[in-house]
Parts: sequence; structure tokens; C-alpha cells
Amino acid sequence: MPQPTYDARGIVLRKTKLGESDLIVTLLSEDGSQLRVVAKGARKPTSPFSSRLELYSVVDALVARGRSLDIVKEARLVESNERLRRDLEHAACAAPMAELVGRVAQDGLENPRLFALTRAALSSLGRVEAARAPAIVAGHLLKALAFAGLRPSFDVCAVCGRVIDLRAANEAALSYSEGGVVCSACRGEVEAVALPVSTLGWCRAFLGSTFAEIEAMDVDPSASFAALRFSQRWVREHVGANLKSLDFLFTCGLF
Ligand SMILES: [Zn+2]
Repeated sequence: MPQPTYDARGIVLRKTKLGESDLIVTLLSEDGSQLRVVAKGARKPTSPFSSRLELYSVVDALVARGRSLDIVKEARLVESNERLRRDLEHAACAAPMAELVGRVAQDGLENPRLFALTRAALSSLGRVEAARAPAIVAGHLLKALAFAGLRPSFDVCAVCGRVIDLRAANEAALSYSEGGVVCSACRGEVEAVALPVSTLGWCRAFLGSTFAEIEAMDVDPSASFAALRFSQRWVREHVGANLKSLDFLFTCGLF
């Protein structure tokens, strides 16, 4: 009896070796859930999969139900995003996006906006010069966190809900554990750190802008990196993970 099959569109987030020549491919599917499939023989140079299931590419796959993991029968490249594998700076910037998505996307948990967001971010990353790439990463990470229900509060006190006016301030008190800025009255009650208001301003701008807008922003890489460091702390606090590829971005010396 033939195995039942289904069509799946996805973004390749990760590839891990299986046995002699197979791969387990982790995809972010179009519905925002995570899908792990086996690509048999994919590590053989002659395999048609080797050029079609590349990291960060968008693929259409025909998948057969398997006993544990499902099995890719055919794959067609939709968007290669080739530059994200070729250029070192772009590759270093694509990796944290895929790593975070791999953490927040789950089997069977639908979140279609996460797919659209990540597809748009990867495509944007492929268009920009290296100096602008960290801003795209910051935009993607902050938006992906917001879509996962982990949006930081930048305007109202995370404890009491009072509106905080930071226009005249240089620094703001921020509590990672409470979920955002805290007012002067609540500050003594919770664990908070002082962050430059400019860093929060950039985070808010990245969160509230489209990728086309971020591509056009006049942003210094140091501001993007400040937003990325904020994102790393946020992920550690709320996702319970440290993004290794983001640590690499901080130390690689490429920017
Ligand atoms: Zn408060």
C-alpha cells in the first residue's frame, strides 16, 4: 500500500546528520509550526536534495508519513537565499534568526505570522549590505518574540501599568523578569537594570517597522548591536535559552 503523502512549504532552519548519508531537516512550515523530516541520501553529492534543502531556503516538499519522522520524497526550491550561505556576515546574521525560530516554533503549534515574518526577514537580509544586516536581525528577533507572546513593554510600567514618559530621560529602569520598563515607584520592588533610553528607542523602532523601513533606517551598527544584546537577555529570561549563534555574532569581529 502506498504511504500517504502531503505537501509542505517550509524554511530550512537546521540540518543534522543521520546515519551514513541521511539528514534530518528542521523546517518552519507555512503554518508556523516546526516540522522535522528525514531526507534520505541527502548527504550524497549526487542527491537532488543536496542543492534543494539548503539552510535558509524556502522549499516546497512532498512528504510521506513515516513511523517516527516523516520522509521527504521530493523537494522544489522556492527561494534560495543563496547569499545567506555565501557571505560570512550574512550567514552570521541569518543563524540567530533560525536559532530563535527553532526555539519558539513547535510541533503542531500554528503561528502563520512567524513563517511570513521569517521569510520576509531572510529575503531582506539578502538585499542589504553587511553593515545593515544586524538591524534586520534585531527586527526579526524582536518581532518573532512579540508573535510568541513575549513582547517587551517599552511605554508602560511592567509592574503597575502606569505610562512612563522617557522623553527627557537618558536612562530607563528595565526589568527583564517583569517584562519591560518599570516606573520610579515600582523600581525598588523588582530587580531592574538601567538601560540607555536610546537602546529602548531602537528596539521600539525595530519592533514597529517593516523590513523595508528598517533597510532604509540610518542606524549605526552599535545601535543594532545594543538591541541584539537586549534581545539576547530577553530570550534568556523568557525563552530559557541562550542563542549561541547570537553570541558568535557578538564575538566574531565581522562587524
Ligand atoms: Zn510602576
